[in-house]
Amino acid sequence: MVRAIVGANWGDEGKGKITDMLAKESDIIVRFQGGSNAGHTIINNYGKFALHLLPSGVFYNHTTSIIGNGVALNIPYLIQEINSIVEKGVPKPRILVSDRAQVLMPYHVLFDTYEEARLAGKSFGSTKSGIAPFYADKYAKIGIQVSELFDEAVIREKVEQICETKNVLLEHLYHKPLLDAAELLDTCYQYRDMIEPYVCDVSSYLHEAIKEGKTILLEGQLGSLKDTDHGIYPMVTSSSTLAAYGAIGAGIPPYEIKDIITVVKAYSSAVGAGAFVSEIFGDEADELRRRGGDGGEFGATTGRPRRMGWFDAVASRYGCRIQGATEVAFTVLDVLGYLDEIPVCIGYEIDGEVTKEFPTTVKLEKAKPVLTTLPGWKCDIRGIRKYEELPENCRNYIEFVEKEIGVPITMVSNGPGRDDIIMREE
Ligand code: GDP
Repeated sequence: MVRAIVGANWGDEGKGKITDMLAKESDIIVRFQGGSNAGHTIINNYGKFALHLLPSGVFYNHTTSIIGNGVALNIPYLIQEINSIVEKGVPKPRILVSDRAQVLMPYHVLFDTYEEARLAGKSFGSTKSGIAPFYADKYAKIGIQVSELFDEAVIREKVEQICETKNVLLEHLYHKPLLDAAELLDTCYQYRDMIEPYVCDVSSYLHEAIKEGKTILLEGQLGSLKDTDHGIYPMVTSSSTLAAYGAIGAGIPPYEIKDIITVVKAYSSAVGAGAFVSEIFGDEADELRRRGGDGGEFGATTGRPRRMGWFDAVASRYGCRIQGATEVAFTVLDVLGYLDEIPVCIGYEIDGEVTKEFPTTVKLEKAKPVLTTLPGWKCDIRGIRKYEELPENCRNYIEFVEKEIGVPITMVSNGPGRDDIIMREE
C-alpha cells in the first residue's frame, strides 16, 4: 500500500510531523523530489530536528528511508545530516539512495548564487541551494547520475563537457572563477566513495516491496502552489511537488498510490516572493508569526521570517484538487486560539469579478481577497484527543474549511508533537 503525504499550500504545512507520525506504521519512507532547499521540523523523543534531505521516517528502527531518483542529491549534505541525527542519539537509520538520482554539484550552488545576484531586484528569492541550476542541467542532459560516478570513463567525459559549457557562462556572463576539470573529477570521486554504501536500484526494490504488501509513504516537499507546472509560476520550485510525481520520482506505477494525504494549514504562510492574496501585514502578521508553528514561523532552512496570511479557501481547494487529495490533515489549528474572530479568504476579486477558481499567475497578481469572518474559540486546544471535545466554534471552523475545500478532514493536528493529533472517526 502506497500513501503520499503532500502539501496543499506553499509548503511548511506540517508534512514532516504527519510523516513522522504515520511512519510508525510504515515500512518504507521515500523522498521523491526537491533537495535540501526546504526543511521539515520534527519533534519526537530524541529532540527537535530540522530535516532537509532525509525522509521524516528516519527516527524509527523498523523503517527504511529512501532518496528517490527525483531528488536533487547533495551528497555531503546527506552524509552530514545522517551524522547529525546519529550524534543526537537516533539509531543509525537504514538509508537507500537511487542509482538514478542525480548529484547536486558545488557549481550548482555557485550558479544559483551568481544568478540571484545578477537578477538583483528581479530575483526569484531562491534559497541558493542550487536547485534550479540542478534541475536545469538534469533536463539539459548534462547532469550527473549516481550510477555514472562509478564509471571512470563516463564521468571523465561528463566533467569535461560540463566545464566546457559552464566556463563560457562563468567567464562572459558572471565574470567569476572558472571550473577546473581535474578538481571537479576529484570531487566526483569523493562523492562516489561517500555514497557507495547507500546506492540501490530503488525502483526494483520498491517493486518487490509493493509485491510483498509493504506500507510505503511518499513524502513531498513544499506544496501545490510551488509546483513548477501548477503553482504560481515563475515563483515556484524547480521540481514537481505533486503526489502524481511521486510515481516518477520513486519509480513506481502511478496506480499504486492509493491514498493522498494532503496537508492543509489552518492559516497561510509562505516564504519567498510571489502573489499571496490573503497576506496580512504589520502587527496582525507579527502576532500570528510569533505564535505560529512551533516557536514562530521562520524558514527551517534559511531562518527567513515567513509571510503570513489568513486561511485561503480558494488556494487550498485548488491545492487539494491538483494533488488529487483523498483526505486532508488539517494542521496548526491550535495557533488560532488567541483570536476573537478569524478571517478566512473565500474568493478572489479580479478586475471587479469574484471567483472561487485559482487563476494563473498573471491574474493572481491582480486578485484581492474576499473575506468572511468566523468566531474564534478563545482557548488552548492542545492536549485534546477527541474531536467532540473541541470547542464548538473550533469544530465549526474545521467543518467550514472542509466544505470549502471539498475533501474530508480526517486528521486535525493541534500541536507540534507526534501525539498532538485528533483522528476523526467516520
Ligand atoms: P513541512 O515542511 O510541511 O514539514 O513543515 P515545517 O516543518 O517546515 O513547518 C511546520 C512547523 O509547524 C514546524 O515547526 C512544526 O513543528 C510545526 N507544527 C506542525 N504541526 C503543528 C501543529 O499542529 N501545531 C503547532 N503549533 N505546530 C505544528
